[in-house]
Formats: sequence, structure tokens, C-alpha cells
Amino acid sequence: MEKFLVDIMLGKLAKWLRLLGYDTIYTSISNSRELQDFLEKGYVFLTRRRAWQHYRILRNKPIYLVQNNEVLEQLCEVIKEFHLQFSPELFCSRCLLCNTLLVEKDKTEIASYVSDYVLHNFNHFKQCPKCKRIYWSGSHKKRMQERLKQCFTEDHKS
Ligand SMILES: [Zn+2]
Repeated sequence: MEKFLVDIMLGKLAKWLRLLGYDTIYTSISNSRELQDFLEKGYVFLTRRRAWQHYRILRNKPIYLVQNNEVLEQLCEVIKEFHLQFSPELFCSRCLLCNTLLVEKDKTEIASYVSDYVLHNFNHFKQCPKCKRIYWSGSHKKRMQERLKQCFTEDHKS
């Protein structure tokens, strides 16, 4: 499974990749040495900065230059380029804020963290063990899934 390192300026793309369940590090890379370290750990670097390709030590390394401006188009582009698959098991398995794998929680465990409305209207909850953010399945998740479908159907046509 691909792992991504996402350059600063592509934060929204990083969130979508995490939503799909891909290990995605989003950070500001300050020099080519630092970048090389990540690439050696198996990360693919997604960036919009052409300049990275000019470093000799980075030659032939997995650096992908994102072409599109709009986030969903960027996502479709990356899905196509790396032949990413949609997996229902991996969808919504990671914290969008910190990339940590989420843990399923019972209502009783998260009751103090969410509003009464959320508590009474939703049944499936997950929590990030690191930043403690709570996630639940709702209309938002369905909408995102719908938008994602476009990317994956386009991929099948080609
Ligand atoms: Zn988190």
C-alpha cells in the first residue's frame, strides 16, 4: 500500500488521502536531505514545487508533481497515477488531523466528548487515540463517499 508525504500547500489533498485510509504525512519539508530520509522510508512525495526535481540526490526518486489546482481534481489525479483502490474497510480509518489509526468506541465511552444531538442521532463512533478527536458516521461521510466515487469511476473509464 502506498504511503504519501504531502508538501505544504496541499493540506486538503492530505486530508482526502487520510480519509481513504492511506498513511499520509503532511509537513513542511525544508531541505532535500530531510526529503530523502522520507523517500527512503518508502513515502511517495506529492508536491507542486517543480524545484524539488532539480536536486541531484533526489533524481529518480518517487516525487510526483501534482498538476491540478482544485483538491478533488488533485485527488483524482493521484488516484489515477498510483492506481489507488477504494476500500470500505480503510475508508475513515485514520484521523484526518494527525494520521493516527482510529479506534472504535462505544457510546458510553465518548458521551462526554460529543453533543447530545450527535450522541442521540449516531451509533458508530471512532476516536483518535492521539489527539482524542471523535468521528462518527453521518451524512457528511456519505457526501464525501459520493464525491470520492467520481474519482474512482473516472479511473475505470480510462
Ligand atoms: Zn488525531
